Amino acid sequence: MGRLKIAILGSTGSIGRQAMEIARMHSEELEIYALAAHSNVEALIEQWRECRAKHICLYEAEAAKRLKAHLRPDELKVHSGMDGLIELATLPEVDIVLNAVSGSIGLLPTLRALEAGKRLALANKEALVIGGHIVIDAWRKGSGELIPVDSEHSAIFQCLLGERSENIKRIILTASGGPFRQKKIEELKMVTPSEALSHPTWRMGPKVTIDSATLMNKGLEIIEAMWLFDTAPEKIEVLIHPQSIIHSLVEFVDGSMKAQLSLPDMRLPIQYALLYPKRLPSPISECELLSIGALTFEPPDVSRFPCLRLAREAAIVGGSMPAVMSAADEIAVKAFLRGEIGFMDIPKLIESVMEEHDAKPNPPLDELLEVDEWAKRVASERVNLIGRK
Ligand code: NDP
Ligand code: MG
Repeated sequence: MGRLKIAILGSTGSIGRQAMEIARMHSEELEIYALAAHSNVEALIEQWRECRAKHICLYEAEAAKRLKAHLRPDELKVHSGMDGLIELATLPEVDIVLNAVSGSIGLLPTLRALEAGKRLALANKEALVIGGHIVIDAWRKGSGELIPVDSEHSAIFQCLLGERSENIKRIILTASGGPFRQKKIEELKMVTPSEALSHPTWRMGPKVTIDSATLMNKGLEIIEAMWLFDTAPEKIEVLIHPQSIIHSLVEFVDGSMKAQLSLPDMRLPIQYALLYPKRLPSPISECELLSIGALTFEPPDVSRFPCLRLAREAAIVGGSMPAVMSAADEIAVKAFLRGEIGFMDIPKLIESVMEEHDAKPNPPLDELLEVDEWAKRVASERVNLIGRK
């Protein structure tokens, strides 16, 4: 068999760059066939020079034009916009689509890749949070494969190999607790974007790093796990585990628990999703349990981190509510990073948009996209109000 051809959506981001490294390390197995980013022309040209991908997409049309001027048209095809992203996610030559874009933009390429029967290595958790029912439906009906890249879900996926989902008693998602695990609520009101961006155990893109600091990331992951592993939100617990060595656990009905451990390094779950079921040496360092010494656990505190409570509520209400929550979060995080709102305004803003929404059960795709737009608009208006105070 030839090499597996990959399309990396979000190749210039944190997950995308690490995926490039894995493809380089396992070049006898993997070939990069297509690359997509939002507007980072320079980084994409550099990546193209290395891998000579046959297709490139820059979401922004202007950026795509600039890129075209730099490269010869007989060597590659340049795409742009959502049509371009979908084209890359469904190219007949492509075996694996790694969806590593950030935000709700990841939903449509996720759906189309599964419908086209691809292996989808899914890092973009927002797609499942917003449209889990549609994504899972496309997965079940088609011949596509869905392998999670998120480290917790990769861990659960590995724990569930050879097991039946009806035997799951509960899933325990671990969380590092982020940079503010021990901060008091008064201190949290004052934290700055740069403090929130320095995560203790993981190096990630800005959106997921802020989500980790508010614990919204763990909330999104509850919803992600619910869909991936067909489990009710009540059966999914969150435990703070500051060392980030146990990436998650599953407890079965007989009381047996399984966990997956390694040093915190996304290159491992990325490689696992790309090569599954093959296991090959990886670039991550050995996990020396003796030098780690102790693995500790604490309960999460929803009074200091209300985003976790909001996500659980959205998961239980279901329907279009998680999409509203996720859209409001995207806007709130951007506003916090621009210094327009405070850290504790993030959950307040999200809650106020959720309160204004009447959730619809099983919304079809067009309604979900409308809800996403509505929630982003309302959230942006609220940002302006807070900003003027
Ligand atoms: P980054 O912000 O580092 O990267 C985002 C990537 O997506 C960039 O390549 C960016 O391009 C691209 N992008 C953004 N918008 C578009 C668009 N409209 N069209 C095409 N490309 C676009 O994010 P991360 O790598 O940190 O995260 C990606 C996803 O993976 C998120 O959903 C996150 O939650 C999830 N994840 C990330 C983890 C991590 O360790 N980083 C861990 C677990 C999950 P450009 O450079 O041009 O802006
Ligand atoms: Mg995670």
